[in-house]
This record gives sequence, C-alpha cells and structure tokens, in this order.
Amino acid sequence: MLDDLYQDIILEHARSPCHYGPLEGATHRGEGYNPACGDTVSVALIVQDGRIAAVHFTGAGCSISQASASLMTQALQGLTLEQSARLTRSFCDGMVGAVPLESDALAPYGDLAALSGVRHFPLRIKCATLAWHALEAALHKQ
Ligand code: ZN
Repeated sequence: MLDDLYQDIILEHARSPCHYGPLEGATHRGEGYNPACGDTVSVALIVQDGRIAAVHFTGAGCSISQASASLMTQALQGLTLEQSARLTRSFCDGMVGAVPLESDALAPYGDLAALSGVRHFPLRIKCATLAWHALEAALHKQ
C-alpha cells in the first residue's frame, strides 16, 4: 500500500492544497517548470532571522506535483534554512534512490513519506521534486 502512486493523502493535498496562493511581503521567490509533464510550481517565502516564517505556493499540473508542493509547504513552516536545506536534500536524494526515502530524516515530516511510491515511477519523479527545486531556486537567488 505504501508504494501506491496515488495515496489518499496525495489526492487530498492535490484537491485542497495547503498554503496555496500569493504571499504578501515575500522575501524570496522561485519558479519551477517540469516540461515532461507540463507542471509549474512557484514558491514564495518569508525568511526571518534565518527561519522560514511562511511559505506559499501557486502552480498547476498533475496531482503529484501539486501534492508535493502542498506537503512541502507544510513541512517547511518554522524550519531554519539549514534544516530546510537538509530536508530538501533528504527528499530529493530519496526520490532519485540515492538514499532510502523512509530514512529518519523524513520521519519528523510525517506526510511527506506518502510520496515514497513515486520512486517506482521514474517519469513522475520530476513531478515530485519540482516544488523542491523551486524552493532551492528561491533560497539561492538572493
Ligand atoms: Zn507531473
């Protein structure tokens, strides 16, 4: 069951995403585009004192890309930039199979593990990592 591509939690997040919409006063913005699937994700953050005080996204595309963005915004609230960089690495490395995705690194971020099944569908991995690439773009742009 854990390996199913479309777990309920993914469908729920795709249907009613968390933290979706523009973010007033954003300090960082980044965009991601996945041409293979046509997905877009834009991320906007407010970084204060080295912490992610708020993060929103907007975008369009398949359920995996939008659910991953929604789960990401949930996981990132309140993290330090260092924690967020570590989580991004764990998630993206886990997706491409470099490390086990259900590693302890993701455990505190619960629902993210719902995306673990995507690993078995190589064409969809870019859908799942798109929001995270947009996040990295946002944080490294300054
Ligand atoms: Zn997609």
